[in-house]
Amino acid sequence: MRVLVIGAGTGGLCLAHGLKRAGIDVTVFERDRDPQHRILGYRVGISPDGSRALAECLPPEVFAEFVRTCARPIRHMNMRTEKLRELLTADVDPGSDPVRSEKSVSRSAMRKALLMGLDDVVRFDKTFTSFARNDDGTVTAFFADGTSATGDVLVAADGANSRVRKQYLPQAQVVDSGVTAIAGKVWLEPGVEVPPGADEAITLLFAPRGASLIIHHMVFDGQDVEPDYLMWGYSASNDKFPALRDATPEQLKQVVLDLTPSWHPALRELVRKADPETVFKIHIRTSEPFGAWEPSNVTLLGDAIHTMTPGRGIGANTALRDAQALCRKLIAVSQGTEELIPAIAAYEADMREYGFKAVLESRDQIDGSAPIHKPVIGRLMLAGFRTFLRVTNRVPALKRKFMAAETELRDTTEQLDSNHEVVRTG
Ligand SMILES: Cc1cc2nc3c(=O)[nH]c(=O)nc-3n(C[C@H](O)[C@H](O)[C@H](O)COP(=O)(O)OP(=O)(O)OC[C@H]3O[C@@H](n4cnc5c(N)ncnc54)[C@H](O)[C@@H]3O)c2cc1C
Repeated sequence: MRVLVIGAGTGGLCLAHGLKRAGIDVTVFERDRDPQHRILGYRVGISPDGSRALAECLPPEVFAEFVRTCARPIRHMNMRTEKLRELLTADVDPGSDPVRSEKSVSRSAMRKALLMGLDDVVRFDKTFTSFARNDDGTVTAFFADGTSATGDVLVAADGANSRVRKQYLPQAQVVDSGVTAIAGKVWLEPGVEVPPGADEAITLLFAPRGASLIIHHMVFDGQDVEPDYLMWGYSASNDKFPALRDATPEQLKQVVLDLTPSWHPALRELVRKADPETVFKIHIRTSEPFGAWEPSNVTLLGDAIHTMTPGRGIGANTALRDAQALCRKLIAVSQGTEELIPAIAAYEADMREYGFKAVLESRDQIDGSAPIHKPVIGRLMLAGFRTFLRVTNRVPALKRKFMAAETELRDTTEQLDSNHEVVRTG
């Protein structure tokens, strides 16, 4: 069986490792000219689920490299107002298990680690343009440089703008969430102060009219990974922003400063100090879930099929879960215990369920049309939400329940374990 994967991102590389380890012929085609090209270094939180998928698919030395390049685990959840007044602070158990724990990684570092050992598998500078089905049941992928490749299975792992999806499932829609974000990194050099409570924490600030700020404190113990940094991301509904089309990084910073005149000075200082090279904007988009399609030897994973807002921090983790699930199925096919199309059908049926559920949950968190972004009702909702957080903060039982609900979403290990056993013994 020859597998063609389009896209050397989070999901595509995880799948490639798993297939290669199982002795399956796999090639990944990536449009970027080289591994460092265009990749943004934003922070990604890898959940216990995502981490288990990586541990299962990656060779141990590649998984160890991934862990080595992660930042120190976060120890606190810190929720505040834009004036830095405390709403809720909770300890986060970093977990001692190297696999089943929360991890913070820079996306660029994760890609570098995941490329380890795949020199003979990943082909850069290969922009996929279209595919065609052949009479013998194989599928051919065509690239912008005029070349092509033929295989038995084609996997779309080419992210939110997936060209494979546009051809294969034209009914799939990716729409604007109505929210824009501007983000940047501040290198932790002498003279840069970590805002109160943000040390070793994920800090979330809830401000009037639906605006919010997230701060990640990233400290690396691994040598040669990256200098330590604070990453901030400001978001608000689209209508709050001026036109950003050709804005330079300095102009993007100024936009955030103009939108936050009364915020705590320590926060505005972070915006000022962001390295312009790290500043970027995103118009956050989301898939519209839709129904089943006829399964075939073309399939999809990750953002290519279920683009989601960063609202729950599960886009990469869901892409990894897909990679793990699809990898198990393709291994079963190569071992002769399952037929290809029913195996892909089963993968897609599960993936649609948990993937589109994740899309809807993420959209609940980030939705520019939600009342929180409106002037009057938004203010009332914010007041109610802040009261809820303050009360939760004061009542230990409520706080435990609140944190347990967050953890539960990111660690569905038991269920994955039992599935895994079924596949392995089957
Ligand atoms: C600011 C931000 C913060 C985030 N934080 C988190 C988080 O904390 N936790 C989390 O789980 N998720 C997070 N995410 C989401 C996460 O980054 C994505 O969901 C995840 O990377 C999707 O993985 P993927 O493999 O589907 O696609 P990608 O990682 O996007 O990979 C797609 C690859 O396909 C390549 N490609 C595209 N088109 C073509 C083509 N035509 N031909 C060849 N190659 C092509 C691209 O260059 C890319 O390398 C965040 C996203 C953003 C923007």
